[in-house]
Amino acid sequence: MQLLNKFNHNTKIIGVVGHPIKHSFSPLMHNLAFQLGNLEYIYLPFDVPVSGLKDAVKGIKALGIKGLNVTIPHKEKIMPFLDNVSEEAGIIGAVNTVVNENGILSGYNTDVNGIIETLNGFRDEIADSEVTIIGAGGAARSVIFTLIRYFKVGKINIVNRTEQKAETLKDYFTVKMFFENIKAYGLVPPDLTNLFKRSKLIINSSSIGMFPEKEDSATFIQESFMKDQIVFDLVYNPVKTNFLKIAESQGATVLNGLRMFIAQGSRSFELWTGQEMPNKKIYKTLKGYMEGESTPKSK
Ligand code: NAP
Repeated sequence: MQLLNKFNHNTKIIGVVGHPIKHSFSPLMHNLAFQLGNLEYIYLPFDVPVSGLKDAVKGIKALGIKGLNVTIPHKEKIMPFLDNVSEEAGIIGAVNTVVNENGILSGYNTDVNGIIETLNGFRDEIADSEVTIIGAGGAARSVIFTLIRYFKVGKINIVNRTEQKAETLKDYFTVKMFFENIKAYGLVPPDLTNLFKRSKLIINSSSIGMFPEKEDSATFIQESFMKDQIVFDLVYNPVKTNFLKIAESQGATVLNGLRMFIAQGSRSFELWTGQEMPNKKIYKTLKGYMEGESTPKSK
């Protein structure tokens, strides 16, 4: 009876729109946080193809859905359908969180908060240094913005499988943020080794190594890391990717994507509920869940 009464007219709905959506850990994280905080909210996944996005946004207003996370491939495409977009999300060109306040939809990019939280302890080392970023998608945009605005890095190398996309990002940030010390490269292993060796901070913001493809992760990267380097992988499932394992075995300081995932989720949670998310408990639960999922199970 308690369960039947749990969701009623007072229940506020939050969702995540993406396509596909089945690998998202956001429903698990937020429903757990709502439960721990005893909040009358529910978080649901919505699998919406690109052709249905405009109608889905109208539906949010019509149904009074209180908020959303936005993931691949909608982070850029949702922006014209919103009423307001934060200054940061506007520069980055991507929204990952929407708040519905009395029918007015506002977009934010809380990936920035996740990146700041992850790199906060390394500000002095990162300032004025050379940084190499793999990937040129939506996540790379947030990383580049955050490194320029909040960490005052000296030089950025963008490396991407499709070199043209790295070039486009380079041109974009040169103009948008007046940052000229930025170069674009294709993902060519010998060049990558040289870039890695010169870099204080190396970030994987591509999908390389993401579950379920983790076994192939970073096999092209060998013996490229050094003791005083910081290596950050945005991929959060598995928690320790092969990229991080190789970097750690060569003495680098490694940072996993789960901390960023929780920090970005925590900021979204605050925007929707005005409450703090219990980050430590959530980290422990999600880590345990993912390690269980990525470990081959015996019968
Ligand atoms: P996206 O916009 O789809 O971009 C994907 C990027 O990965 C592109 O640069 C793509 O290269 C590259 N890529 C994909 N498969 C590859 C492969 N097999 N070999 C080499 N490059 C490959 O995705 P996104 O939003 O930027 O997300 C990227 C990753 O960051 C995902 O794993 C996502 O889960 C993670 N992420 C984590 C957090 C967090 O909180 N920890 C937040 C946001 C994103 P091409 O341009 O050549 O296609």
